[in-house]
Amino acid sequence: MLTPNMNYSHLKSSYLFYNIAQKTKAYLAEHPDKTLYRLGIGDVSLPLCDAVIKGLHKAADDQADASTFNGYMPECGAPFLRKAVADYYRAKGVELADDEVFISSGASDELGDILDIFDRSNRSLIIEPAYPAYVDANVMGGREIVHLPSSRENGFLPLPDENTDAELIYLCSPNNPTGAVFSAEQLKKWVDFANERNAVILFDAAYEAFIEDKSLPHSIFEIEGARTCAIEICSLSKTAGFTGTRLGYTVIPKELRRNGMSFNDMWIRNRTTKTNGVSYIIQRAALEVFTPEGQEQIHRNIDIYKNNARMIMQALDKVGIWYTGGQNAPYVWMRCPDGMGSWEFFDLLLNEVQVIGTPGEGFGKCGEGYFRFSSFGSPESTEEAARRLVELLKK
Ligand code: PLP
Repeated sequence: MLTPNMNYSHLKSSYLFYNIAQKTKAYLAEHPDKTLYRLGIGDVSLPLCDAVIKGLHKAADDQADASTFNGYMPECGAPFLRKAVADYYRAKGVELADDEVFISSGASDELGDILDIFDRSNRSLIIEPAYPAYVDANVMGGREIVHLPSSRENGFLPLPDENTDAELIYLCSPNNPTGAVFSAEQLKKWVDFANERNAVILFDAAYEAFIEDKSLPHSIFEIEGARTCAIEICSLSKTAGFTGTRLGYTVIPKELRRNGMSFNDMWIRNRTTKTNGVSYIIQRAALEVFTPEGQEQIHRNIDIYKNNARMIMQALDKVGIWYTGGQNAPYVWMRCPDGMGSWEFFDLLLNEVQVIGTPGEGFGKCGEGYFRFSSFGSPESTEEAARRLVELLKK
């Protein structure tokens, strides 16, 4: 008799964004004249930059002519794009071989798929509050999760100690949802821990392009020792507005080996079996992100989002509310006022000032009492939301 993967029955229903949508819909049905100011979304609102759009058009034209047409692409990525990503790392002081870079359709795909190359007996350590996909991908695979709660006391950046015990370690920096960023000294502690324990770090760098503080690392590979214990997963989704266009990359160093097995070789075998690569058109367009013109244009967009984050931070400063993030990340993570619960604060914001955010409890139990604002909305909407926040919280 066929048996489904019963691990799916252990998944908690993903009520967070569903609940937000339901509450928002119900409010609008009752108050059709009201405008909502949305600081809840984790999706970008600005269009692709001009260089990428030109790349897309050029790539479409290439596919129209037999002399420039591309059929199947190499499964691990087009050589031109693997080289461009390796060069991007080199400019940040990280030396990678082109074949240590794997082109993907995005970070979500890789964060789940990469578990294929680790034995099911490995436990996954997940720092919470966390991006929900880490937990769900591990539950689907029937893997044991070690939950490591973080808090305001450690700046939402916990470090390993004598009680830490897991074989796979998820680190997300800059963090979604807290916006907190690990320093090089803090990451070194995780790298040393992983090397001592033979553990592997899965480093999610989806928001690295938002780091402006020059002392903060963009990549785990800026840390000595990381090549023997880390895999980095990155994405152009937030960096370059590719949420709907889809492109990411994963770095697996050749030195990353356990039990005589090379994870780089295993991932080549995995990709060549389970994918036929990312489309030529998207890879050709993504190449433009890594040109000087593309970098200049994507940073112009990132600056708009960073300015939105500043508006939210200034509003919270004005009313003396504790928060983290915002400076080197697109998310601002605030303490709810007067000991309020995060859904209680959601309702208050919606009903009183029509501002939408994301309740921290949706990212794990220790997110209760906190609230996430996203800077990916429009400047106009963010400015009005920030003004309304001050008006409400001053009372
Ligand atoms: N990792 C983190 C921390 C994210 O917040 C997101 C998207 O919100 C992703 C990965 C997924 O990115 P992608 O669009 O590349 O799948």
